[in-house]
Amino acid sequence: MQVDDGFWRLRLYKAVVADLNEFFAAFLSDYCCNCPQVIARLPEAAGESFELVAGVYPGCCHRGAGDIFRLEGVGVERSHLAPELVAALQQERAQLLRRDNRVVRGGAYTIRRLADQTTVRGAHCRYFGPQGCTLGVLKGPLCINFICPPIRDDLLAICNDDPDLVGPEEDFLFIYRTLAVISYEDPFRAEAEVDLFRQRLLGVKELCRSFAESSKCKSLFDYFNSTQEQ
Ligand code: SF4
Ligand code: SF4
Repeated sequence: MQVDDGFWRLRLYKAVVADLNEFFAAFLSDYCCNCPQVIARLPEAAGESFELVAGVYPGCCHRGAGDIFRLEGVGVERSHLAPELVAALQQERAQLLRRDNRVVRGGAYTIRRLADQTTVRGAHCRYFGPQGCTLGVLKGPLCINFICPPIRDDLLAICNDDPDLVGPEEDFLFIYRTLAVISYEDPFRAEAEVDLFRQRLLGVKELCRSFAESSKCKSLFDYFNSTQEQ
């Protein structure tokens, strides 16, 4: 691997994250803004209710999550992003944090379990700010790959239960596989894999867009939340 490998790999990595950021903002962010209602759909959450006592509930953005560089997924043989890519990513993150050093990041929150009034304290990811993630295209692999089971169920319903489009449970949109190719293969294979990823994402976006238009709801979250309440 060449010394400057991390930089072209980071360029592709950021392109993938940029596309996903746009997709999340258009179709999934409403879920995360209503995280407790989404989590309440999980069978294991039946009868469980929590209230926020202090701070901001960060959804999935808990301490440490942004610094996990693990890759999982079917057929993904490498277990982590390439060290060169992680180094380039961390270098750009450090520059961004120095540049935007007035933004308050991190923090803590407390929730109370209504069943027995016990309280639980949690810590935010150190990149979590008042408007959510402050890393933009520099967020980590787990941040772009994880969707909780209720979101996955809804996307599968929209995508005609096609796992080739949505990807397997442990590898949403085959993002880990794409990141593994970006990490370890040559530039031609990596570019081709990013093209395939973009085609897949475009397919999901088109289905989400036409579903949202035909359902006439404010958001996908709104539509599926209302069907749960009926
Ligand atoms: S992915 Fe699911 S669990 Fe995570 S913040 Fe969004 S709604 Fe909440
Ligand atoms: S890096 Fe951003 S998206 Fe990832 S856990 Fe931290 S705040 Fe959330």
